[in-house]
Amino acid sequence: MSTTALTGIGLLVTHDAELGEIRDAALVIDEDRIVWIGASADVPDADDGTDLDGRCVIPGFVDSHTHVIFAGDRAPEFEARMSGQPYTAGGIHSTVAATRAASDDELTGHAAGLIAEMLAAGTTTTEIKTGYGLSTVDEQRSAQVAARLSDDVTFLGAHVVPAEYADRPDDYVALVSGPMLDACAPYCRWIDVFCDRGAFDVDQARTILAAGSARGLGLRVHANQFGHGAGVQLAVELGAASADHCTHLSDTDVEALAGSTTVATLLPGAEFSTRSPYPDARRLIDAGATVALATDCNPGSSYTSNMAFCIALAVREMNMTPAEALWAATAGGARALRRDDVGVIALGSRADLVALQATSPVHLAYRPGVPLIAATWKGGQPITA
Ligand SMILES: [Zn+2]
Repeated sequence: MSTTALTGIGLLVTHDAELGEIRDAALVIDEDRIVWIGASADVPDADDGTDLDGRCVIPGFVDSHTHVIFAGDRAPEFEARMSGQPYTAGGIHSTVAATRAASDDELTGHAAGLIAEMLAAGTTTTEIKTGYGLSTVDEQRSAQVAARLSDDVTFLGAHVVPAEYADRPDDYVALVSGPMLDACAPYCRWIDVFCDRGAFDVDQARTILAAGSARGLGLRVHANQFGHGAGVQLAVELGAASADHCTHLSDTDVEALAGSTTVATLLPGAEFSTRSPYPDARRLIDAGATVALATDCNPGSSYTSNMAFCIALAVREMNMTPAEALWAATAGGARALRRDDVGVIALGSRADLVALQATSPVHLAYRPGVPLIAATWKGGQPITA
């Protein structure tokens, strides 16, 4: 057992209702947990200590929506899109082919590289989806790789109907709900369905989510990215932890989210990278919905791993206040994963912390694109770049 004191914290953002923000703060870490929080002048003795010299400390970012198990990239597709061609879901099939052709070691190495990139940028919790295998064996391989890297693995066999099932999508739904689910469920905590135009309709989504629920998996839904639809309503009806994207919402959708425990997870990197209109975060927050921010890190529509970038987009493009955006990127992400041990700095929570090269978290949006992560601790361990 050894304890570490972090002192000289100019501003500690806890996201804990009782603590709020503390100026001139300190905290003590014991192994992987936070065991003391208070004024820097009152800090108890600890085995080791680090003086943060007035820096701001925030909870580590919780990225509750990523697709980091894949091979290859789609830079030419992005370049074409930025040259005026509209985004369609078609390019995903090239990632599926590359992922199927990659070895387990290649998939692991690539995903671990992205997770390391995220950690260096302050993200200490990352949800990881499957969804580029789209065969039983390749989805299971993807889930196994993801489970080595995260406690929050999501089975997304229902990402898109693979080319070989294009003329018989209901057969693919049966595969996803049956043998593929059976092969993946042991490695997963969650199941997700892309319920949108060009992907799975609401009846197919309901079938797949019900099968996952029967296997004990929690529910998540890709909903309302490309247009109005029933995805958000389905997520709320089934008690999903999260409805993700929420770009096109009716008044009924907003009311449903506001009256539920389903988090609206907004992914502004996708709108940025597809040059699409952003979701209306203000409308959701003002209605009382819980909002999370995540990267949607994937090679097609949002190849960023950087939560600070998403915070800057949320503030500049979605009219979230800097404080709302930071909350959504930490505590909001934790809500979306139904976790209370991360996303906050409280007694007993995981010592997942970020010290900013700034005196205020406002700088995350105020200084976009600037590397402001001075230090990161995950489970009490300092991360060295
Ligand atoms: Zn996604």
